[in-house]
Amino acid sequence: MEQANHMTPDEFRRCGHAVVERIASYMEEVEHYPVLSRATPGSIRAKLPATPPEDGESFADILRDIDEIIIPGLTHWQSPNFFAYFPANASGPSILGDLLSSGFGVQGMLWATSPACTELETHVLDWLVDLLGLPEAFRSTSAGGGGVIQDSASSSTLTALLAARERASGGCVNEQGFGAVAHRRLTVYASEHAHSSIEKGARIAGFGRQQLRLVEADSRHGMRIDALCAAIHTDRTDGATPTMVCATVGTTSSGAMDPLRAIGETCRKENIWLHVDAAHAGSATVCPEHRHLIDGLALADSYTFNPHKWLLTNFDCSAFWVADRAALTRALSLLPEYLRNRATESGEVIDYRDWHVPLGRRFRALKLWFVIRHYGAAGLRAHVRQCVDMTHWFAAQVEESDELALS
Ligand code: PLP
Repeated sequence: MEQANHMTPDEFRRCGHAVVERIASYMEEVEHYPVLSRATPGSIRAKLPATPPEDGESFADILRDIDEIIIPGLTHWQSPNFFAYFPANASGPSILGDLLSSGFGVQGMLWATSPACTELETHVLDWLVDLLGLPEAFRSTSAGGGGVIQDSASSSTLTALLAARERASGGCVNEQGFGAVAHRRLTVYASEHAHSSIEKGARIAGFGRQQLRLVEADSRHGMRIDALCAAIHTDRTDGATPTMVCATVGTTSSGAMDPLRAIGETCRKENIWLHVDAAHAGSATVCPEHRHLIDGLALADSYTFNPHKWLLTNFDCSAFWVADRAALTRALSLLPEYLRNRATESGEVIDYRDWHVPLGRRFRALKLWFVIRHYGAAGLRAHVRQCVDMTHWFAAQVEESDELALS
């Protein structure tokens, strides 16, 4: 019988050192690479063999191809000269935390499948409630709230939509599908500048384009509260059921802020789920001087921000909190025979499989824990403040320029 060529722990040690060495050199070199890959479409594949190797290859050969084929085909997101999309600032501690997650290879779908995976995640997200100045209702020790790590803000928003849909339909959609509530259409609201993930999530959750209202924004690109109220009023008059408003703290195109408190008050009055998307800007509130950005967040049902955007944690890591976790688990919980276990039945544990779409989940909390412990609250604040100082410097240069205008 053929034997699989498993790496022994000693080989792993040797190859692992070589990979860590390669990553460390990459960190030293990345500034000198052209940020954009010079690859042309198909040029990377042209360098790869058409078929997979029949026999295993040496690790040195694999690493050589990293240098010769893969690195020239990268866009260097970690370069200090990269200014596109968002600052995807990975850090040493976060990479090492992620490596440990792969090394342990555990599944955190249930508390019972790896208790530390669940409890560390719950704990770190409670730490973030303190670090970011978030409302107490999001803490796992509050009456019913808690946080979970998702792969992306898109997934967080989709999860919020599913919970909001469940609450607005009184469980009807879960039981009987959208047909059961077609006569009272469920509607979703976001600013015309909201990220496309809101519309994508709405599509996946079964809301048609005609059930999504992209509300007009003001001259500073924040959602107009009068336009939101008018849209809700029109929909109610039409017999629709306003289900969720997504407010954005820091829009993708211009960093605009929706008027969170006014939106929250409207949602409370109208009994509509308020989800807040602070994917990029949310990291700013590690600094008390930026907490005004989330004034009114206590009125929200759910909140998401991405530590993988500005909080020194490598992709993927999107933190998501709900004030009423029962709404979430009612929307997503299923318990087939093969997942039954004593801890779940005791009701004393969190099973994160009920908090998002996938069942399986990896140990993402490790990297966040490493980052928070390595930098400490003071280090995280210093990081954000340095970035904000650079932005002010840049804004001053634009203001002084005859060719550029700040708007
Ligand atoms: N929301 C906002 C405000 C964003 O800026 C982005 C991405 O840039 C997203 C959501 C989507 O983020 P993700 O890639 O984590 O789904």
